[in-house]
Amino acid sequence: MGVTTHLVEMMEGYSKALYSSFFLFRNYDLLFDCGEGCAARLDRHQFRARWVCISHYHHDHSGGLKGLFLARAYTKGSNDREMTIYYPEGSPSMERLRRWLERDLPRLPFPLEWAPVSPGFRLRVSQQGARVPIDLEAFAADHYAREACLGFRIVEGRKRLKPEYAGLLPNEIARIAHQTGHDSLMEDYEKTILVYSGDSAPLPVEIVRGADLLLHDATFLSERDREEPGHASVEQVLTLARVAEVSGVMLVHTSHRYSLRTVRKAMPRLLRRTGYQGDVWIQWLDRPERLDGQESAPGENAAGEGVRRETHPPRGTDALGPQGTEAPL
Ligand SMILES: [Zn+2]
Repeated sequence: MGVTTHLVEMMEGYSKALYSSFFLFRNYDLLFDCGEGCAARLDRHQFRARWVCISHYHHDHSGGLKGLFLARAYTKGSNDREMTIYYPEGSPSMERLRRWLERDLPRLPFPLEWAPVSPGFRLRVSQQGARVPIDLEAFAADHYAREACLGFRIVEGRKRLKPEYAGLLPNEIARIAHQTGHDSLMEDYEKTILVYSGDSAPLPVEIVRGADLLLHDATFLSERDREEPGHASVEQVLTLARVAEVSGVMLVHTSHRYSLRTVRKAMPRLLRRTGYQGDVWIQWLDRPERLDGQESAPGENAAGEGVRRETHPPRGTDALGPQGTEAPL
């Protein structure tokens, strides 16, 4: 399984521009955005949401917070599992939402922290003692001028052979390692695993360079349809992905003025025009759909129209609630 597919398999999400968007990455305990219906869609996967990263205050990205808090509090499971909400510093609307929720739900059974963050904020999300350090990082998104908007990415600390040793034969490398120590041959670098744009015009190349998976706003199919700035088109996202050598793209926040069939039909032309050769997916409502003609997404029929993917009961071991219990609400 490719690295992009692995990340897509780890994701529980939903996206419909204007209505709701959220993306849970179970392996990182990270929830990007929390639009309406988030708790209902995630069901017991919601216990995985340790860190909730709100890109901006718009209702389709933040309107599910109250439901998420109630699900954490009253669904049978790890009701005391702490949760932190990261949101853009300098967003009066987010501060209003926070105050309302704090007043409305004053006694939650789990520790809830609200943390305004700015571009450059970093958080270690790998477990203590993990072999590889993994960080969450916030960056500025280009969406809405009047209030701060963020995107988020996951970066992994890795080691590689220093470029000056790249052309040497294995026995020469072994000799140097013997003389000066293995560490002297290596350098640290950061590998970008995952990028979530939030709502945004195309992100800067440096933010997404070399990412395994780029979840990017793709509100419009073509520039002709553009009604407002602060969003991207599918063509812009594919061009960015090619230039930044991204392994896979997940189009999100696509306007539902288009049908999935229309998007599929446009793909060969868009891929030819942009020259992007990586994996291409779209989050279509609650299911990821493959768009580049490669293997189909689970639950897809031969006609290429997706059928609803059954995700309940939850797959495998990641539901922190007791097996087989129903929510009492
Ligand atoms: Zn928005």
